[in-house]
Amino acid sequence: MPDRAAFIETLPSAVEGDVQTGSSILDLHADDESPFRAHRPDAVFTPTSTEDAARAVRHCAEHRIPVTPFGVGSGQEGGAIPLNGGLSIDTSSLNRVLEVSTEDMTCLVEAGVTRLQLEAELRGKGLFFPVDPGADASIGGMISTGASGTLTPLYGSMKDNVLELEVVTAGGEIVRTGSAARKSSSGYNLTQLFVAAEGTLGLVTKVRLKLHPLPEARVAVRARFETVFDAVTAVTQLTASGVPLARAEFMDRVLMRGVSLMQKVPDEGCHLLCLEIHSDETTAPDRAELAKELCREAGGVAIRASWRTEEISEIWSVRHRAAEAERHLKPGADVIVTDVCVPISKLSTIIADATTELDRLGLTAPLSMHLADGNFHYALLVAPGDAHEAQDAQTFKTWLAQKAVDVGGTISGEHGIGIGKRALMDMAHGPALPLMRVIKQALDPDNIFNPGKVLPE
Ligand SMILES: Cc1cc2nc3c(=O)[nH]c(=O)nc-3n(C[C@H](O)[C@H](O)[C@H](O)COP(=O)(O)OP(=O)(O)OC[C@H]3O[C@@H](n4cnc5c(N)ncnc54)[C@H](O)[C@@H]3O)c2cc1C
Repeated sequence: MPDRAAFIETLPSAVEGDVQTGSSILDLHADDESPFRAHRPDAVFTPTSTEDAARAVRHCAEHRIPVTPFGVGSGQEGGAIPLNGGLSIDTSSLNRVLEVSTEDMTCLVEAGVTRLQLEAELRGKGLFFPVDPGADASIGGMISTGASGTLTPLYGSMKDNVLELEVVTAGGEIVRTGSAARKSSSGYNLTQLFVAAEGTLGLVTKVRLKLHPLPEARVAVRARFETVFDAVTAVTQLTASGVPLARAEFMDRVLMRGVSLMQKVPDEGCHLLCLEIHSDETTAPDRAELAKELCREAGGVAIRASWRTEEISEIWSVRHRAAEAERHLKPGADVIVTDVCVPISKLSTIIADATTELDRLGLTAPLSMHLADGNFHYALLVAPGDAHEAQDAQTFKTWLAQKAVDVGGTISGEHGIGIGKRALMDMAHGPALPLMRVIKQALDPDNIFNPGKVLPE
């Protein structure tokens, strides 16, 4: 049995950074944005260098104490909750942007840099980093959950934008994976092994990312649709036309009812699709016209398009307030978010089936989708303390995950597995699951890194 008292007593002399055991700091690291029960770590360590993080991990390894990496705790699946106590390693002081190369269009950052911090750092350089989850997450957390955002159709997710990692292994060694080069055929792709590993294989301390030139012009389009099928058709036609479609965000009619309640306007009873095309100034008007035409042909109505900055903000304003609109449907409700992802050709069928299932269970669940990726989120609105409704929400989550797998999709598009979806991993991965266990066993034989996450018992 690990002697936790001895571990905590000796930790400050084993490391140079900040070790804290006060109850308020433990509480801050006991929880994330998921609905799972909080669990305190025994101590929180905030390293200021990779070497110091490595010393802490070595100390944990010697005492067989669990280590849970902590970014900013915006995760939706409980990944940063230290289920077995131990040490929470908070990366917030690993917060330096070490290098920005406009020539290579890359940057090297420490894992605790947040996406808005990076955005501010890149301002004025003509470059941007395109992965934009709704929260101001840490880059290390975004790597570790395989995060994506609204710009994935054109720029990809974290896995597509990472070149190189520095990682502290379970033995406390510091390793580099990948390189600064744009491509590589050299050896196993260890970089991708750590993407979406949710801190179960090591601690990410530095990340080299790809950057992209800011688009010269943007075209925004908004249209209402009667059916999901029609909205999907508009997006697939637009993609097939070769237009650089950067964003395709969909809000269903339930969510739009929330918008009408929030804005105190009549409910139109339609779904809403918001698009963004990246362009140059010369072709922007033509692209706006083409997008309008394709939306109209697919059955879209009340279509608006513009390439003028102030009108773009206006066209997207409803989408930006989606989370607020959700709350108007059932004030005070707890929100349980789903996150499956399916081939776009299967979207309209799975959404139709899900609507039937939600009606059967009597659940209120507004839907938002990153439509071009086939990734969609139901926000299951559950009355606090209503155990029956919470159970129905869980039933729906499991049902939806099975459906997604059945049509060739995945149980998580961007939030990860964390605690809640571990039980679904066998169903999702079958014979590939033992292979994942072999990797975990090889990299972390004593299971010190984030035990109780991703892989089922
Ligand atoms: C309002 C809101 C909107 C969101 N929208 C999106 C969205 O659009 N797309 C999306 O993908 N996600 C979204 N999320 C989820 C969340 O922001 C992402 O999962 C994000 O990547 C988590 O980053 P974090 O820094 O908060 O990590 P944490 O929550 O702190 O940790 C997440 C996981 O990564 C591990 N981890 C953290 N740092 C490291 C590290 N340095 N090394 C190894 N492991 C580490 C943790 O142990 C944990 O398992 C949203 C969340 C909220 C609250």
